[in-house]
Amino acid sequence: MRCQKCRSEASLEIRRHHAAFCATHFLDFFERQVERAVETGKMFTREDRVLVVVSGGKDSLALWDVLCRLGYQTTGLYINLGIGQYSEESQQKAAAYARSLGAPLLIADIPGEFGIGVEQFARATGRASCSACGLSKRYLFNRVALDHGFSVVATGHNLDDEAAVLLGNLLHWQTAYLARQAPVLPSTHPRLVKKVKPLYRIAEREAAAYAVIRGIDYIVEECPNSVGAKSLLYKEALNLLEQAAPGTKQSLYWGFLERGLPLIRGEDDPVLRACQYCEQPTTAEVCAFCRMTERAADRMRIRRCHEQSLSVARSSGEANRARSSNPVPPHAAATHGDLPL
Ligand code: AMP
Ligand code: ZN
Ligand code: ZN
Repeated sequence: MRCQKCRSEASLEIRRHHAAFCATHFLDFFERQVERAVETGKMFTREDRVLVVVSGGKDSLALWDVLCRLGYQTTGLYINLGIGQYSEESQQKAAAYARSLGAPLLIADIPGEFGIGVEQFARATGRASCSACGLSKRYLFNRVALDHGFSVVATGHNLDDEAAVLLGNLLHWQTAYLARQAPVLPSTHPRLVKKVKPLYRIAEREAAAYAVIRGIDYIVEECPNSVGAKSLLYKEALNLLEQAAPGTKQSLYWGFLERGLPLIRGEDDPVLRACQYCEQPTTAEVCAFCRMTERAADRMRIRRCHEQSLSVARSSGEANRARSSNPVPPHAAATHGDLPL
């Protein structure tokens, strides 16, 4: 197989485009696809300050890399979600990459700010881990962008991600979600920052190839909470179809953007107002993130009280036992730190 540009040995075949490229011309292809997405979608210009949210994975680091090379003004944002070793490693990858790029990286630290990570938020509120995680990420992307004066947030969602989410939304006819599945989500409230997905024309394996060719060191492991997630099942199903019929993912997602989205756009458009607590845009009085953190804090308070009363019961039991065999002087009992007075 030969590169269609220079006829040298091709390194990558892109069957849905009936194309094959050597490494150099693949990088050109990748840059062109991203530039085209940014320009045709009017995502941002070289005058805008773009907040690129990076997970430490291949897609978002490849996105940050290509946007810098294309001359856009970018700052990275990494969110520590408090998912144990996975979060530690992915933060290291994001920070190391920012250093090598010489670009600024902001870090939002959920356990640092709230005392617990997204898994504990999920447990305390009866949500699925991925739902608490997604909610926290969306909330912080917007809040950090507002706090630091960015007009646009760019995520690393690629064609495979979007096609899989679309399939899931179609299977369950989630019309409100379908209406929000565009690569550009404009700001519809003064405190809601525009969100864009400049990799929506790029397949997952192309993002991986870009990262490898550019020597980007990214976290290979998937989030431990994503094991068994529906989105992975939909990706597998689409990969099977793609193998038999190259271009399936693209025709599904791009076809939806061209022909499906215009039919449902505007349907279920929510009316937004400011959250009573944090002033972030929401459809309710209190935003979903504040409700989740409040509930988690309540649970923690209840649990702490419960643990304290258990420890009181335990220590008074011990004290009684001790007193019966070996009487404790009153001042010694009073110094017992766990006793709520
Ligand atoms: P995911 O929701 O994990 O599929 O990730 C989708 C996109 O969200 C990624 O491509 C990143 O742009 C962004 N993202 C995911 N996790 C983080 C994180 N911990 N910090 C910042 N951005 C993230
Ligand atoms: Zn070539
Ligand atoms: Zn709020």
